[in-house]
Amino acid sequence: MAKYFGTNGVRGTFDQLTPELALKLAGAIGTYFKKNDGRTKILVARDYRLTGELLKNAVLSGLASVGVEVVDLGEISSPTAELMIKQLNADALIIITASHNPPEWNALKVVDGKGIGISKERGEEIEKLLGKIKLTNWDRVGKITNYDRSISDHIEKIESNLNRTKLQKKKIILDCANGTASIIAPLMFRRLGAEIITINSHPDGRFPGRPSEPTEENVKDLIDAVIANKADAGIAWDGDGDRVIFVDEKGEYIIGDRVLALCVIWQRENQKGDLITTVATSRAATDAAENLGMRVRLTAIGAPYLSEEMSKNPGAIGGEEVGGVIWPQISLAKDGFFTAAKLYEALSKAPLSQWLAQIPKYENVKIKIKADRNEEKKKMVQNVINHAKKNKLKYSTIDGVRIDFPDSWVIVRASGTENYIRIFAEAKILQKAKDLTREYEKIAREKH
Ligand code: MG
Repeated sequence: MAKYFGTNGVRGTFDQLTPELALKLAGAIGTYFKKNDGRTKILVARDYRLTGELLKNAVLSGLASVGVEVVDLGEISSPTAELMIKQLNADALIIITASHNPPEWNALKVVDGKGIGISKERGEEIEKLLGKIKLTNWDRVGKITNYDRSISDHIEKIESNLNRTKLQKKKIILDCANGTASIIAPLMFRRLGAEIITINSHPDGRFPGRPSEPTEENVKDLIDAVIANKADAGIAWDGDGDRVIFVDEKGEYIIGDRVLALCVIWQRENQKGDLITTVATSRAATDAAENLGMRVRLTAIGAPYLSEEMSKNPGAIGGEEVGGVIWPQISLAKDGFFTAAKLYEALSKAPLSQWLAQIPKYENVKIKIKADRNEEKKKMVQNVINHAKKNKLKYSTIDGVRIDFPDSWVIVRASGTENYIRIFAEAKILQKAKDLTREYEKIAREKH
């Protein structure tokens, strides 16, 4: 078991992810990616968290001390940084960001040279190198340089993948969460010719405006602003800009997997191929894809598994249930800015509420039940697998166990980081979804 790496990097509060640990991990990461012949180049970027700069300095030192050349990209969004891997021909990238977590958290998110995030499994390989870090000779330490054009490079890449001639001027409210969207989002929308109003759009690592996760509760100000200003849409990002949610012209909040469903429809207009998504994604997205004749490929939960799958066969589009959409024409990263730009393109054809009307509605219920030990977690998941086998249900064990019924499904899985089993059900009617979670809680808890 990996000690530090979770499903998406090494995450912790400042007392857990200390500068000392960041220095050591960077040494191990540098060693892991180091090529035997020629130069190894690793990019480093960060968000605006207060612990970001000092952790970045530890990471730069750790990498350079094992002889890796380092390029400091500065304070930019995660999708912007991930786009730079190819552009700067790098062997890997470390982003210092805790994404949507509270401000006292931070993380090292590691991405390889192909743009694939480092999963727990590969993280374990890196951790094995922690005791084997070898300082390089004094005259071979890695060079540390800066690159400060990534935001404009990203905007240019987005613009070149839009149909700019057909864009109409629309009024958009941007809620940047005081995160890395604060610089790129207003710049991009001005370039696209939009009329914009921004909220929470000065960078501040304390997240004074709202918590950085764009839940419905956290974006109330955005919803009010859309209604008060009679805007065409509202857009809110998480702290590092890979995830995005929309608000339609009527003030309706559009949750992550419905954002993905919309993107599937927009992408399918000029791109054939599969939808790649996780086993926890709503049928709103998978139905939308299947209705358009697309095949759906499901992966385990976590962005690295999605990008791993897409690196083998990119399909048309990928995405997670929480509002992270991967556009293969841009990169293998979830890109909250290209997603927002595609919304802007779509608004020139129809209002957002009309696009939404094409998406089937489902109700979701999530519960978690306490399970203290790993054996207990395993047993609970196994109980559900046994139940599915015995009753000849349609099930899959890609991640935990998911059981599919004609118009509903339920997934039961062990949390990797907390002492819980999570049960997540979806159905056309809310009561049915609630009943499913209760029924499967009982099955999971059965004693033999
Ligand atoms: Mg994020």
